[in-house]
Amino acid sequence: MTGISEEINSRRTFAIISHPDAGKTTITEKLLLHGKALQKAGTVKGKKSGQHAKSDWMEMEKERGISVTTSVMQFPFRESLINLLDTPGHEDFSEDTYRTLTAVDSCLMVIDSAKGVEDRTIKLMDVTRLRETPILTFMNKLDRDIRDPIELMDEVEDILKIACVPITWPIGMGKQFKGVYHLLRDEVIFYKTGQGDIIQEKDVVKGLDNPELDERLGEYADQLRDEIELLSAAANEFDLEEFLAGQLTPVFFGTALGNFGVDHVLDGFVDWAPKPLSRETDRRTVEPEEPDFSGFVFKIQANMDPLHRDRIAFLRVCSGRYEQGMKIKHVRLGKDVRISDALTFMAGDRARVEEAFAGDIIGLHNHGTIKIGDTFTSGEDMKFTGIPNFAPELFRRIRLKDPLKAKQLQKGLIQLSEEGAVQVFRPLSSNDLIVGAVGVLQFDVVVHRLKTEYKVEAAYEPINVATARWVTCDDAKKLEQFQNKCRDNLSLDGGDSLAYIAPTMVNLQLTQERYPEIQFFKTREH
Ligand code: GDP
Repeated sequence: MTGISEEINSRRTFAIISHPDAGKTTITEKLLLHGKALQKAGTVKGKKSGQHAKSDWMEMEKERGISVTTSVMQFPFRESLINLLDTPGHEDFSEDTYRTLTAVDSCLMVIDSAKGVEDRTIKLMDVTRLRETPILTFMNKLDRDIRDPIELMDEVEDILKIACVPITWPIGMGKQFKGVYHLLRDEVIFYKTGQGDIIQEKDVVKGLDNPELDERLGEYADQLRDEIELLSAAANEFDLEEFLAGQLTPVFFGTALGNFGVDHVLDGFVDWAPKPLSRETDRRTVEPEEPDFSGFVFKIQANMDPLHRDRIAFLRVCSGRYEQGMKIKHVRLGKDVRISDALTFMAGDRARVEEAFAGDIIGLHNHGTIKIGDTFTSGEDMKFTGIPNFAPELFRRIRLKDPLKAKQLQKGLIQLSEEGAVQVFRPLSSNDLIVGAVGVLQFDVVVHRLKTEYKVEAAYEPINVATARWVTCDDAKKLEQFQNKCRDNLSLDGGDSLAYIAPTMVNLQLTQERYPEIQFFKTREH
């Protein structure tokens, strides 16, 4: 058996941040291919029919052509064990996407090189700043006509405020895409078309001055030499510390579809990305090598698999070792629970984990007792911090079809908000219930679940709300004055925290200016 620190040192736990259609799914598939978790690419999307029993839930997924289920995939690469956490990105984009980023140690940013920096990427990068997460960047779709690489990096630097260091440099683009020059290895790696579904044999020419390059690249050889000379003078140098502080990102060019360049990024993760990091709790810092088990729940997923009609709580292991059958303490409830059937998610299949270490994710069966942010330990009373709620971006008023079911509705909504599906706000000055979400699909999910799980029929009405901010103030008197003055805009969330509900962004800005002593937060800790 390998030692605990060896296990931990080998782990890399990351997620992909990107705008829809930039190529996240395609690159995930290629990552799994390199991790030998897939025999042949092309099998992640489009589950074989008949593989799962059908349910309304699955129908809903099918109708919309999207997957509500998200997963964690573990695969080996070189001497590392990679944990890739999926971040829902299309209509299934939700607060879970944000919260998943609090459970990783690094991120891969995928950019569509024809488009550049797009808004979802900006939002997700904002979230990674909460923990100064190290970011590696993949400029995708080089087999298409892309924008000027320098311009792309400038855009990343300007908009995302992170320094770019090219590690590979593209030679041509679109139909003329020849491959990349690896600046650190001083070698040209040639691209071959039509080999996207396999791991290609490496075709490498060493040395920028090698005359073989002129033979093979023609006019591109000198052009490349000129570009590299310019880059060497102008570009930042790779600095591991700045990378680990989230201030600098190594940039790789390639095509996910052509499975070219993906392995260069994976090498980057193995060589530079941090092993599982220490984590803060309300009591002390927890180091991954500590022998005692600890971890926190960052996501709860309902009805993942209709064959197992339960909820799964995703727990990030922070220290110690999980072993099947061990007893751990559910700190909030002060109760010991025996975990005999935690799950891991290898390439989409649920399998039983025998053991897990810091950096790994395990799935716990949850019958309604686990909430997002819950800590589990070997016995110590402490609570991990940094697993917040994020201010919703979309709001609707929810109305009951049967007014006698108000209690069930409130109960259902509060439970669903504890799972992180949506947030619920109860205005101080009315009996309305406002539902807030980060992604639009969540609204439908909630109505569907209210009906099937809580027997409550509800519908939405539009409401004029632009954003919400949690508010606090050190001075209780000032807070009271603020509450009296702004009562119509204040509400309590599912956990009874006070939140300001702003009809417009301008209103929020004006209120913040008018009440400088009040603090407005975009996130709330559990
Ligand atoms: P996601 O929404 O980020 O998961 O993006 P997908 O992986 O589903 O990709 C969106 C579209 O871009 C799909 O049609 C892919 O086939 C295509 N795509 C992804 N990577 C590449 C690439 O490197 N080159 C080209 N030409 N198309 C790509």
